[in-house]
Amino acid sequence: MANPRLNKAIETLKDNGVRMTPQRHAILDFLLSSMSHPTADEIYKALESNFPNMSVATVYNNLRLFKEAGLVRELTFGDASSRFDANMTDHYHVICKQCGQITDFDYPYQSEIEREASKKTGYFVDSHRMEIYGLCPECNSKSQIKN
Ligand code: ZN
Ligand code: MN
Repeated sequence: MANPRLNKAIETLKDNGVRMTPQRHAILDFLLSSMSHPTADEIYKALESNFPNMSVATVYNNLRLFKEAGLVRELTFGDASSRFDANMTDHYHVICKQCGQITDFDYPYQSEIEREASKKTGYFVDSHRMEIYGLCPECNSKSQIKN
């Protein structure tokens, strides 16, 4: 096994009393190597040919386990299905309005805005979300051709 992140994640699950199964291993591996913030359905479709007995419910149950163990975070966007992100560091996302692609955007975490929000509203503030919207390079070049 060459992926140190995968080994570490397996250890974390073991510490949480979660035993490894081939399906669980495949879902975890897929998530850790994916940069695309997949939905449960996308994970299912990517792996179903290797695991004909796997159901979407299996994928969901595993994602819930991984989330509880702090290995992935769930990204919700209104009514659309949740997406899953194995990058647990604080980071922002740029989202394509055309195709829905989500790309990590490394930018200093803006803790100042949390302090300001707390100061101005009296709330106890512990997090914030910021999303940047536009067209990904592919969609943008397609829209340029049409015009
Ligand atoms: Zn796009
Ligand atoms: Mn991300």
